[in-house]
Order: sequence, then C-alpha cells, then structure tokens
Amino acid sequence: MTRVLLIFALIFVLAWAFWRFVDGIIDAFGGTTKQRRKAAPMKLVRDPVCGTFVAPKEAFAFRTGGETHYFCSVECRESFRKSA
Ligand SMILES: [Zn+2]
Repeated sequence: MTRVLLIFALIFVLAWAFWRFVDGIIDAFGGTTKQRRKAAPMKLVRDPVCGTFVAPKEAFAFRTGGETHYFCSVECRESFRKSA
C-alpha cells in the first residue's frame, strides 16, 4: 500500500514539473494569452452623430436604454441626447 502512495506522489510531482516546463515554453514563445491580449489593437466604436471612429476609453459615453453610445465630443453627445 505504501508503494502505491509513493508511485502516486511521484506521478503528481512529475505532472507538476511537466506543467511548469510547458509554462516556461509558452512564456519563451511570446508570453501568456494575457500579454497577447494587451498587444491586440484597440477596438473602435462609431460616433452615431458624425460617423467618427473613437476609442471607448477616450470617448464621451452616453448610456440610454441599456445601451452605451460613444461620441467624439460633447457637442455630438448633446445633439444625440436632444434627438433621442
Ligand atoms: Zn462626433
């Protein structure tokens, strides 16, 4: 019985070492998926008033009816708010 436990412990250690090794390879070849996602191009949204594409982070947001609209400027946001 003790031998069986020892074999299980050995398999566990080997599996752990294997996954550490695989993680090291993934890091060496361009990093984790998190780092790759950060490098991806920023998604742009369209200003429904003037048609300009803006980055949501820097845009002027306006929430209405569970939807968020993004605008290039306060003027666009105000004219959308008035027409809505
Ligand atoms: Zn605009």
